[in-house]
This record gives sequence, structure tokens and C-alpha cells, in this order.
Amino acid sequence: MGNYDEYPYDEGGDGGEGDGDYGGDYGEEGLDSSQSLPKSKKLKRSRSFEVLDIKKVESQTDSILNEIMEMFGIPSKTAASTLLRYYKWDKARFINDYSDDTKQDKILQDAGVTSFELEKTLDDDLIDKPFECLICLEEVSGRNTFALSCGHRYCRDCWRAFLEVAIKSEASCIWTRCPYPKCNELVHENAFQKFTTPALYTIYERQLSRSMVLENSVAKFCPAPNCDNSIFVDRENRRDPVVCDCGFAWCFMCSDYEIGDHTPATCQDVESWKRKATDESENVKWMIANTKKCPACKSSIEKNGGCMHMTCRKEAGGCGFEFCWLCRGDWKEHGSSTGGYYNCNKYDASAAKVEDDTASKTKSELDRYRFFYTRYEAHRDALKIASKQRQETEQKAEEYTKAFRVRKEDTTFLIGATEQLILNRGILKNSYIYGYFLSTKAVPKDLFEFSQEELEKHTNHLSELYEKPIANIPSYDGFMSWRSETIKYTTIVANFRDKFVEAIVKGH
Ligand SMILES: [Zn+2]
Ligand SMILES: [Zn+2]
Ligand SMILES: [Zn+2]
Ligand SMILES: [Zn+2]
Ligand SMILES: [Zn+2]
Ligand SMILES: [Zn+2]
Repeated sequence: MGNYDEYPYDEGGDGGEGDGDYGGDYGEEGLDSSQSLPKSKKLKRSRSFEVLDIKKVESQTDSILNEIMEMFGIPSKTAASTLLRYYKWDKARFINDYSDDTKQDKILQDAGVTSFELEKTLDDDLIDKPFECLICLEEVSGRNTFALSCGHRYCRDCWRAFLEVAIKSEASCIWTRCPYPKCNELVHENAFQKFTTPALYTIYERQLSRSMVLENSVAKFCPAPNCDNSIFVDRENRRDPVVCDCGFAWCFMCSDYEIGDHTPATCQDVESWKRKATDESENVKWMIANTKKCPACKSSIEKNGGCMHMTCRKEAGGCGFEFCWLCRGDWKEHGSSTGGYYNCNKYDASAAKVEDDTASKTKSELDRYRFFYTRYEAHRDALKIASKQRQETEQKAEEYTKAFRVRKEDTTFLIGATEQLILNRGILKNSYIYGYFLSTKAVPKDLFEFSQEELEKHTNHLSELYEKPIANIPSYDGFMSWRSETIKYTTIVANFRDKFVEAIVKGH
């Protein structure tokens, strides 16, 4: 893939910076060298992705199509967009290939453009002749038929019905092909315009613009709900976070609203974590670890008392078998010689012991997962609270202004504090995913746990500080000292966050 200049960004690109990352990027080699760059250089590097709203996407689609139509004398937008879609909207690669005259025919054929003719017209002498449509088997006059350049001719009513159904399939409507079996000819937009209603045709047009994002290897729609912005990046397979104009930060690779920006965990960690969380078999293993089964009929048995003599109760749907809880052997073989009612000396050598060991290993693995999950969840919830607090800063600022007659400028720290909390909660949340897979990382366990704990402790302290009830602030002076304490802690936790991320990045 090429550099920045080749993509439909609004502002001009700085091609030489094509591999740059924005300031918040982690998980890439060379972070240290970028940190030593002068600030202006770093800012320049920050434009390695671009946010486009849907209107801009539409106008960019149009201008790209016009450009290649002009360049190669392509007669219709339909043909131009069909070709570009085939190239996943990689304009540079298309121009490069198509400039080679010997390749043109093959490209057109592969893309499904068999000719630049929009319609195969009927010879004059056939216009008033009867024609049998192979879809509906009705006989119509030749003038009531239509064929794309491939020549497969059907009656107009069938085309209308066929294309209306196609549009209702939404995104895939732009890939509609001629209804003739195995014909590769794509239906162009003029045909859609001719045979469908204006309202349906608008859907087709919108999908065409969306395809510039959806079928583009360097673009994606923002996954935040109610946001129709898209982000164009400088290279394929970008794994670093991007930030949409709507404020949502997300991993370009995962592109998942729930997950968002998952620094410091890797995409792989997140994928395994999600699989783990939804894995039903975990629950099954949990059941096995917590219940035993009757050795005869396999129904689950719960043990209540301490006695090892068990009866699989018929009233509870069991079989009536009497057995030893420990070794699962027949109770008939038990007695004072095997240890009585409260012990069993056959246990250590039994298959039941092996089974129990596996169950307890499963249980401890499950306990471990729960340990990480509950902490992950706690920070996820705290993140939601911090986001809510961020939204309420204005209201809170007003309360303080009224109560202590402080200047508005003296309340801006509320924004800084909540935004820092959001950042830290996000990092902490994901650090438990990272920590769960720590054995696959190069970061030393004690260093990781130490920095995580520090970050957690100080972040919690900032939360506490921020949530100090207004009733506990006695006066203007009290407000001002609470304010400077909060500002101080905001800086402290920002440093802890940076250090934590740095320690992890080094160990990737
Ligand atoms: Zn028909
Ligand atoms: Zn055809
Ligand atoms: Zn967005
Ligand atoms: Zn990812
Ligand atoms: Zn039984
Ligand atoms: Zn026994």
C-alpha cells in the first residue's frame, strides 16, 4: 500500500510520514524514538488517520469517480464505480494497473464490466416482434424488454421486480448481477434508476458511497452508536487506536464498540478474552467441579452432611445405588475395614481421585478467571461513572460557582480530572485482560503487578477526591485547597498511566 497522499483525505497529506502514528499510539516498535522527536514533528505524525463524515464520503466518492472517468475516458459512473469497487477503492493501484493497455480487457472482464455499453439495444426489426421472457414465461413486445451489455434479455416487469428485491438486501445491492445463471455482468446504477422508484434508488446510491468505506481496506465506519463518521487510515492492518470526532477512541483493527481502545491489551488478547467470557463450556466445567455424579446412573448428587455413605435417592429421580462419596465405589465393599463412615482408604488409588484433582484444577483456573474478570468489570463500571461525571462537569461547575463565588476558570479542572479518570479506567480495565494472558508476555510479573497496583491505587484516590461531597467543603478556601489537591492528583495519575503503558510496551 502506498502513502497518505493516495487516499481521499480532505487536507493534503505529508506522504513522507506515511508510517507515523498519532501521539496515543502504543504497541509499536520505535515508540522511544518518537518520544524523543521535537513536538512539531510529533504533531505532524499525528495525522496518520482522517475522520470523514458521511457527506464528505459522498463527495469524495463522486470526485474519485469523476477523476478516473476523465483519466481513462470511462463513459459512466456505473462502470467507474464497478471498477473501483473491484479494486476495493484503492485508486492508486487501479490507475497503475489500468494504465497498462494490455491489462485493460482482463480487468474489465474480472470486474464484471463486459462493455461500456449500458444496454444491449434491440435490432429495429425486433422491436415490435413478440418476445418470450425466460423468467415469467410471458410473451411481451420487444420494446418492453431490457438487456444489459451481456445481452440476456428479460421483460421490464421482471427487471423491476428483480431490482426492487435486490435493493431491499441493502449493502449487497451494489453487487447485483444479471439474473441469467452464472452471468458475471453487474447491474449498473442506470438500470436501478430506470427500473426502481426514486426512494429505492436513493438507497442504492447511499450504498454505493458506503461501499467506498465498507469495501476499502484502509477505511472503517466508527462503531459508536448513532455516529456515521468513517475513519481513513494510512496503511492496511493498522492495529493502533484511532479517535473519531464524536470522541470515541477505538482499535482500528477490532472496530468494536464494546471493546473500544483496548490499550495495553493486544487484539489477540481481546479476542481470546471474549471467547473465554462467552465460553459456555466454562460453566459446564464449573458444574463438574461442584457436583458429583452417581457412578451408576450419572444423575447429579449433592452432598449435604459429612458422612461418606451416599444413596442415589429414588425420590429425586435417582437409581437407589448406595456408594462411597470419596471413591465412588459400591458401599457394600465398605465398612470398618475401609475407614468407616467418615473416611475411605481406597480413595488415594482410585480413578475418582484423578477425577477430583482435575475438577479442582478446573476450579482454580475458573477462580483465576473470575479474579481477573471481576476487576475488569469493576473498572469497566467505573469508566461508565467517569464518563457520566465528565458529562456533568458543567452542572457541577455551576454549583461551585454559586456556593463559593469562584471564577468559572477555577472550575475547568473538573474537566481535566474526569477526562484523566476516563483514560485511566480504560487502561486499568484492559490491563486485566492483559494480565490474564501475562504468561504469554515478556513483562516480568512482579513489575507488571506493581505498576498496575500503583496505577489502581492512585486512580482510585483521584476518584474519591473528585467525588468529595460539596457539603464537606466548608468555604472558599476549602474549595481552593480541594481544587489544587485534585489538580495535583490529576497530574500524578497521568504520570502513573504513562509509566505503566511504557513498562508494558517495552515488554510486548
Ligand atoms: Zn418477465
Ligand atoms: Zn447477463
Ligand atoms: Zn464516531
Ligand atoms: Zn484490536
Ligand atoms: Zn444413581
Ligand atoms: Zn470409598
